[in-house]
Amino acid sequence: MEWTIKLEARTGWGEVHTHEIAVVTRRPVGLTADEVGMSLGEAKGLLAEIQRCIVSSQIDEQVMCARVCADCMGLREIRDHRTRTIQTLFGTVVVDAPRLKLCVCVDTKGFKDISISPLSELLPDRCTPELRRTQSELGARHSFREAARLLATFLPCSPQNQSSVRNRLHRTSEELEVADCRSKAKPVSASGAGEIVVFIDGAHIRAVPGHQSRHLDVTVGKVEARGRPPRRFGLAPKGAERPLSNVRAALVEQGWQPGRPVTVISDGEPALPNLVQTAINEPVIHILDWFHISMRIRHIEQSMAGLYAMKPANTAPLDYFAWSIDRLRHVLWNGYHEEAWQSLWDLQNVAGGIPQLNGVRFERPVQGFLRLCAELRGYIRNNEDAIVCYHQRYHDKRPVSTSRAEGCVDEIANARMAKKQRMRWSPRGAHHVAQVRAATLDGRLMPLGVQLAA
Ligand SMILES: [Zn+2]
Repeated sequence: MEWTIKLEARTGWGEVHTHEIAVVTRRPVGLTADEVGMSLGEAKGLLAEIQRCIVSSQIDEQVMCARVCADCMGLREIRDHRTRTIQTLFGTVVVDAPRLKLCVCVDTKGFKDISISPLSELLPDRCTPELRRTQSELGARHSFREAARLLATFLPCSPQNQSSVRNRLHRTSEELEVADCRSKAKPVSASGAGEIVVFIDGAHIRAVPGHQSRHLDVTVGKVEARGRPPRRFGLAPKGAERPLSNVRAALVEQGWQPGRPVTVISDGEPALPNLVQTAINEPVIHILDWFHISMRIRHIEQSMAGLYAMKPANTAPLDYFAWSIDRLRHVLWNGYHEEAWQSLWDLQNVAGGIPQLNGVRFERPVQGFLRLCAELRGYIRNNEDAIVCYHQRYHDKRPVSTSRAEGCVDEIANARMAKKQRMRWSPRGAHHVAQVRAATLDGRLMPLGVQLAA
């Protein structure tokens, strides 16, 4: 059997042209499984040919329209003929792109060599925005090499290589940066008011050789406001041209405006809430992440369980621990940092006596236990202003933990840039990927309905 695929084009002024695109043939007898339906190669060829026909007639029509002078309706002269290559998702197309002289009715003020190029105005990058967005989105999800390979496998948009994916992603990131700088706070409706919560955290990635340190910091975050889907942001502070506008834009998009309260939940690294505070130029409420406190208490409990397992003769101190650690969790959950600090101090005093009561074999494990208590005590002291009544917040259904932002670190930084990926990053390169990845995960990059499946 034989199928002929034809494309019928009708111009704006009614002319009809028919192009034969392809002929697919299959033998009637002796059909093999591979010959059922169209093959990937045939489909790619078909798409490329359809795209070539559509793009070249589209550009012809566009140039034709551009030749008409809007002022006197006269036809502009063609200055010279040249060809231009346009990269699209469905193939690279070479088109005629003549340069036009200015119309005779225009006063050129003595300049003779002025000409216009309709195509350059339409596609200054010589690539369709959709191709660039797709390359950027894939490059944010996979390595540049893998992204190029995926594109070339399924689409006729060759030649694809990792540097073209990287360059396009960088270009997209620069565009996002420009858009962030332009974002302005808008008044919010009464229903949109209330607390805006910023979950913020950091990740370390490997730096390129020659960078001043071996690792680079990537800051990632998620901004949540009631009634809106979360807005993520990712940046490498050393590679971002304007890290503050990056953070500020995320807040503005979630309805922040001067005077609206912002709560920052972080693990206690002071640079993180400071970044948000500087970005909006207003004080923020900083809350120490409950998840990080609770993990530290958990470690102390595990260390205590280890001491129990050694079957001490005198268990009195350990029985006191079990009660005391429960109380510690309770007082911290209610925001009483002073009591928590005191109760850790008591725990350390009691633990110090265990080797005397139960023998020297307890010395080393008790040292470990003491160290964990001392670390938590320091952590509480350093962050006492950020320890709040978690119980009340929890009761009010307000977030108390960055566990959601931890997911954000994995999503934005670790999955693409983690140390185990063996990739090394320049500050600018890391910044571009973090930024485009955050946009990709939010679905901000692709128009609605065509987002790539996660
Ligand atoms: Zn004119």
